[in-house]
Amino acid sequence: MKIIVVGAVAGGATVASQIRRELPDAEIVVYEKGRDMSFANCGLPYYLGNEIEDRSKLVQASADSFKERKEIAVHLYHEVTAVDTANKSVIVHNHLTNATTEENYDKLILSPGCKAVRLPQLKGSDITFPVRTLEDTDIIEQHIEQYDVRKALVIGAGYISLEMIENLKNRGLDVTLLHRSERLLKTMDAQFLPHLMNCLKEESIKTQLNDEVATIEGRTVTFKSGFSEDYDLVIEAVGITPNTDFLENSHLVLNDKGYIVTDEYFQTSSQDVYALGDAIETFYMHTGAKTTVALAWGAHRAANLIAGNLAGKMKAFNGLLGTNIIRFFDHAIASVGISEAEAKEYGAAHVSFDQYPQARYMPRSHPMHISVYYDKETRQILRACFFGKQGVDKRVDVIATAIIAKMTIDDLKDIEIAYAPPFSAPKDIVNMIGYRAK
Ligand code: FAD
Repeated sequence: MKIIVVGAVAGGATVASQIRRELPDAEIVVYEKGRDMSFANCGLPYYLGNEIEDRSKLVQASADSFKERKEIAVHLYHEVTAVDTANKSVIVHNHLTNATTEENYDKLILSPGCKAVRLPQLKGSDITFPVRTLEDTDIIEQHIEQYDVRKALVIGAGYISLEMIENLKNRGLDVTLLHRSERLLKTMDAQFLPHLMNCLKEESIKTQLNDEVATIEGRTVTFKSGFSEDYDLVIEAVGITPNTDFLENSHLVLNDKGYIVTDEYFQTSSQDVYALGDAIETFYMHTGAKTTVALAWGAHRAANLIAGNLAGKMKAFNGLLGTNIIRFFDHAIASVGISEAEAKEYGAAHVSFDQYPQARYMPRSHPMHISVYYDKETRQILRACFFGKQGVDKRVDVIATAIIAKMTIDDLKDIEIAYAPPFSAPKDIVNMIGYRAK
């Protein structure tokens, strides 16, 4: 069997490796249009912040190591430009030689990920960069070193922007956050915005909210408000869009935003084509509603299931919850489940609560904030969001597990959380949400 994989980073490299375990005799060929494979996207901001000092730690495998250890052929700088599902073939363009070939497959697996949205008014600016790939990161690193960068503007207020703000600040840069509204970090519930604004203030991050870039000339950025300022570096993190243009004539079904529609076996609308990762439309485990989640867990789970399915061990995906967390200086912000906007549309009941995550009398204990949405009738937990300094990771994972186990909001009272003063309270914040829910 010949299996072609498109994309060689989180989803592509993982699915190729997992297939090799399941199908020792399959011919596996991976095409990657970029320079690098198997790099840790998630670590890029921490490398730019000098928290990760050794760049080589960001690269988990190479084409040579895949060939030697796994008998998988990875072709870098090879872009799949078209898919013909009727003939079961792909067109591959080799960017090194400019040659174009047609390759046949028995099974095709797509993990093309997403690309950064670029603002037209920043086109041509030589101080503006997205942060998606290791190549982008090397360019930013070189720019910072070469031009003795002191002052950075970070555009956008998603998790990548916040991670870049933290890391550039930790590197010693003077950082400004620019966002077109006041609604920062949509994965976080709106009621926690004042806490996030306090964090930004405490860390001396300047903010330029309800504003946008009008023009950029050299180092001078002029905003739509009329304000203008010089920066040495601009990070553009204003959203992502799926890398699916090459599927235009493939007859594969894409949703209205261009994400590849898949079923619970990650099968696309074509029987021999599977897809995984950031570029797919999938579904929430607990509500069944369709969603897209550009996070690594889903790509890794899908890789395992697709490999098993190709080997005949059919197992359906249960769906995902979009569990996410970010560190922002000494705080952590996490959420799980449907978005807050979706919870409101659903007409969900809401409960929120603040409590010290450890015994209140312990030194350095700080309040944690939790907000939970649940179904008024069934009491099913739909979404939870946390903001705090300690123990946020534990609580979000407890709630994720509770949702997977189909526990109701009232069942949270029964979770016996490990207690000693440095870790929690005899009635943990997770229990308290159960007690407080009306
Ligand atoms: P990618 O890893 O993006 O890989 C897709 C690859 O396909 C790309 O290399 C691309 O060049 C290639 N490709 C696209 N089209 C073609 C084509 N036509 N032909 C050949 N090759 C093609 N997730 C978390 O869960 N936690 C985090 O903390 C986190 N931090 C992140 C930080 C940053 C800066 C970034 C950028 C992402 C982060 N993510 C995080 C998201 C996570 O990296 C993605 O969810 C994951 O990489 C998705 O895997 P993927 O295979 O779908 O896409």
